[in-house]
Amino acid sequence: MLFENYLKEKIMKPYWKHKNKKWVCPKHIPSAIIPVTISRCWFTNCSSVRPPIVRDTPLIPKCEWFKCDKDNGKPALRRKTSKYCSVDCKNKNARHAYNLRKKAKVI
Ligand SMILES: [Zn+2]
Ligand SMILES: [Zn+2]
Repeated sequence: MLFENYLKEKIMKPYWKHKNKKWVCPKHIPSAIIPVTISRCWFTNCSSVRPPIVRDTPLIPKCEWFKCDKDNGKPALRRKTSKYCSVDCKNKNARHAYNLRKKAKVI
């Protein structure tokens, strides 16, 4: 029984049930579902704390052209409809790919 408790302490980690709204302390039967506003499990003698708030870092894809410098010398964000930020970059990339292919053939 004690060992089981030990395992629970070790393995049963709190997790989000509804992202950033409700979290679960799985050490209880049934598991405790706790609102985000409470940062510690409300069961006495339970050491669980709220899991870290999940922050959505929106992944904005950058221009595919690896030499792109349209954003003040840095790669610019790509357009929704394209892998590139501009026709210019698209053309440059196409030319680059073409040259690579040509080189490969020469060798
Ligand atoms: Zn708990
Ligand atoms: Zn670009």
